[in-house]
Amino acid sequence: MSNITQPRITHAAVVNGHHHLNFRKFELKAPLEYEVGVRIVACGICHTDLGFMTEGAVLGHEGAGIVEQVGSAVTRVKPGDHVVLSYQSCGKCSPCEEHHPYNCEHFSQLNFGFQRLDGSSAYPEGIDGHFFGQSAFADYCLVTEQNLVKVDPGLPLNLLAPLGCGLQTGAGTVLNTLNVQPGESLMVMGTGAVGLAAIMAAKIAGAKTIIAVDRDPARLALAVRLGATESINSDQENYLETLCPHLDYVIDTTGIRHLDELAQEVLKEGGTLVRLTGSAGETFTRGRKAISVIQGDSVAQDFIPKLVEYWQQGRFPIEQLITYYDFDDINRAVKDAHNGNVIKAVLIWE
Ligand SMILES: [Zn+2]
Ligand SMILES: [Zn+2]
Repeated sequence: MSNITQPRITHAAVVNGHHHLNFRKFELKAPLEYEVGVRIVACGICHTDLGFMTEGAVLGHEGAGIVEQVGSAVTRVKPGDHVVLSYQSCGKCSPCEEHHPYNCEHFSQLNFGFQRLDGSSAYPEGIDGHFFGQSAFADYCLVTEQNLVKVDPGLPLNLLAPLGCGLQTGAGTVLNTLNVQPGESLMVMGTGAVGLAAIMAAKIAGAKTIIAVDRDPARLALAVRLGATESINSDQENYLETLCPHLDYVIDTTGIRHLDELAQEVLKEGGTLVRLTGSAGETFTRGRKAISVIQGDSVAQDFIPKLVEYWQQGRFPIEQLITYYDFDDINRAVKDAHNGNVIKAVLIWE
């Protein structure tokens, strides 16, 4: 059967010169043979989006939607399938072949390079797309089989969209990278979406001590409802005294320097500090170390279905983290995400 793919007009939010997003309509080229055209119905806003607010960019990398058209080499999905989108990988380099796409040799080009693997773009001159292989702040975008996860059409895509980056990163760090075991102890610094996902995952893993650190009392209360066994407000003067040393792990989602130093203090001998902030790994005294983790070492096609299962069992209640906005309201959503007024903003399309 021949497979004719077509260009399609997309309605996208494009960053202008003033850290503001303007709506624009333009044509995306037809999907290449290995590409999939997806109508977006929901997209989370992640802090990485806020770091790439450059003029002409179409951001958005926690998309979810419905397949509209597929290139001739695509076998995993067909039009009408529901998909959750995640980070992009090439599928061909050694780490990809070894089933470690989070270590893809082309990770940076494919996720932050605003281009395809071959350097081309489906976007018109002056518009930068293909962000994380998605650019899902739009009602339609092109993805590949590497960054889509097919899900049951009965599942709520609005809810599943943010699994593709932030929630996968927090939960994956606990369940994949650290492989936390029953009875172990950890501290999570920062209770945004990534930190709260780590806390929910630590409870799933059976951790005995789960300490949440933040300066926002409402978020700390939520952290306790989601599984933290203790909460510490880092704004309180005497909070250092309440810290218990000898923890197995500390996960830092804040990148705040004095918290990082503190993390080293409370680790037990041989303990691990995970930096989810882009900072590099290093070795400290007494066998303690810091590591840097990408996407929670998650293979999206394996891990997202697992998270969906935990959600169905009531053990990963992500609805408690989400605030919804109409796509038209994207500027308000970005502002609220930036100011920390909401934990996880999710855009929805009618
Ligand atoms: Zn992200
Ligand atoms: Zn690769």
